[in-house]
Amino acid sequence: MRTVLLLALLLASTPFFSQTEDEKQIKAIYDKALTDGKAYDWLDHLSNQIGGRLSGSVQAQQAVEYTKEQLDLLGLDRVWLQPVMVPKWMRGTPEFAYFETKPGLTTNVPICALGGSVATPDGGLKAGVVEVNGIEDLEKLGREKIEGKIVFYNRPMDPTLINTFASYSGCVDQRYSGAAEAAKFGALGVIVRSMNLRLDDYPHTGSMGYGDMPVNKRIPAAAISTKGAELLSATLKLNPNIKFYFRQNCKQYEDVQSYNVIGEIKGSTYPNEIMVVGGHLDSWDLGDGSHDDGAGCVQSMDVLRLLKETGYRPQRTLRVVLFMNEENGLRGGNKYAEVAQDKGENHVFALESDAGGFTPRGFTIDASEENLEQIQGWKGLFEPYLIHMFDKGGGGADIGPLKDGNMVLVGLRPDTQRYFDHHHAENDTFEHVNKRELELGAATMASLVYLIDKYGTIPSKKVKG
Ligand SMILES: [Zn+2]
Repeated sequence: MRTVLLLALLLASTPFFSQTEDEKQIKAIYDKALTDGKAYDWLDHLSNQIGGRLSGSVQAQQAVEYTKEQLDLLGLDRVWLQPVMVPKWMRGTPEFAYFETKPGLTTNVPICALGGSVATPDGGLKAGVVEVNGIEDLEKLGREKIEGKIVFYNRPMDPTLINTFASYSGCVDQRYSGAAEAAKFGALGVIVRSMNLRLDDYPHTGSMGYGDMPVNKRIPAAAISTKGAELLSATLKLNPNIKFYFRQNCKQYEDVQSYNVIGEIKGSTYPNEIMVVGGHLDSWDLGDGSHDDGAGCVQSMDVLRLLKETGYRPQRTLRVVLFMNEENGLRGGNKYAEVAQDKGENHVFALESDAGGFTPRGFTIDASEENLEQIQGWKGLFEPYLIHMFDKGGGGADIGPLKDGNMVLVGLRPDTQRYFDHHHAENDTFEHVNKRELELGAATMASLVYLIDKYGTIPSKKVKG
C-alpha cells in the first residue's frame, strides 16, 4: 500500500504527470474542433456570402465588418479595428487573349491580368512573341530580339520538389519582376505561365511590381493558364512568327482606408507578453479566397474560441489578427508591427496560417535554437494527430514585420500538394476546402498556442538593440 502511494507521489512530481495534463488539454482542443468547430461556418459566410476580398473592394470592407461582428460574439476581452491605408487595384472587364497563326486564324487562350499591372491600350496589344525560360534569358537574347515583342515567360514549377512552395519560389520572379525586366529591353508586354503544377485552363493572378519605373514606361503583364502556355509554346515551335493579342483594362486607384481586425484575450499572469495568431483577410478577386487565406483567418479566430471553450485561460495575452492587404502590399502586416513598436508592446510569439486549409502536417519555426528545441520537444504530443513537421523555416508574410530577433515566429504547414491547383485562381473556392482538414488545422494551431502559453518562450540572451 505504502509503495503504491509513494509511486503515485513520485509520478505526480515528474514531468510525466504534466505531459498527461498536456495530452488531455490537447485532446480536448481537437475534440472540440472536430465536434463543435466554428471555422467552417465562418468560412462559408466569407466565401459564399462575401466572396473575393481584394484590398479596397466592397467585399474587403464587408469581411472586416463580418469578422469583427463574429469576434464580438465570442465574448473576448477586447475587439477592435486598426486603421490602415491600402492600395486599390481593380481588374475591370474580363481580359481577352488569342494567338494568330495566319491572318484571321486565331486561337483563344485564358489569361488574367497580374495584380498591379497597367492596362493594355484600349484596343488591346498585338505583337510577335519571344518565349523565354526566365528573366536570365533576356540578357542572352538582347534588345534586338526583344524590342517590340511580347515576352512569354514559360518556366514551369519544378514537379520534383515535394514542398510545392519551393517550386513556387523557383518561378515567381517571372511573375513579380518579369514585366519590369522585359521593359528594359523594349518589350511591349509580358505573358507569364501560371504558377500551377497542374495542366488546366485557369489563369492564376498574383502580385507584380514595376519598382521605380516611370509610369509611362510600364508594360502590361498577364498570366496564361498552364494549358494555354503549353499550346502557345508548341505553336511557337512550329511557327515562331505568330502574333499574340491581349486586352485588359485594369487600373490602379488612390489608396483607400481599410482595417486589420483584432480580438484579444488578456493574459491572466503576464498580460504584457503578447501572442498573435492570424491570417490575411484580403484575397485575390478571381475566386472567393477560401484557401488563400479565408482558411487561415477562420482557423485563427477559432483558436481563441477553442481555448476559451475548453476552459483554458491564457497566462499571456492572446490576440487574433486578421491582416488586411497581404496579397498586394502587406500594408496590414507592416501597420500592425509599426503600432506594436510605437506602443512598446512585447510580442513573444506569432503564428500564421497562410498555406491553405489542407491537412496540417506541422510547423515551420523561425526562432532561436533554444526555442526551436523547446518546440521540437513537444513533438510527441502532436503524434496522435499525425503532425510531424517541426522544421526551421519562415513564419509568414504578415507576421514577418514583427520579427525582432527575440520572438518566436511560426507558420502552420498543411500538406502542399493541391495548394497551387487553386492559388490565386478562379477555383480557390469553398467547395475545395474540406471541413475536417480545416478543423484539424485550427486545433493544431490552438494546441501550439496552449503549449507556448503554458511554458513560455525562452528570452534571447542577447541584449535587444
Ligand atoms: Zn495568402
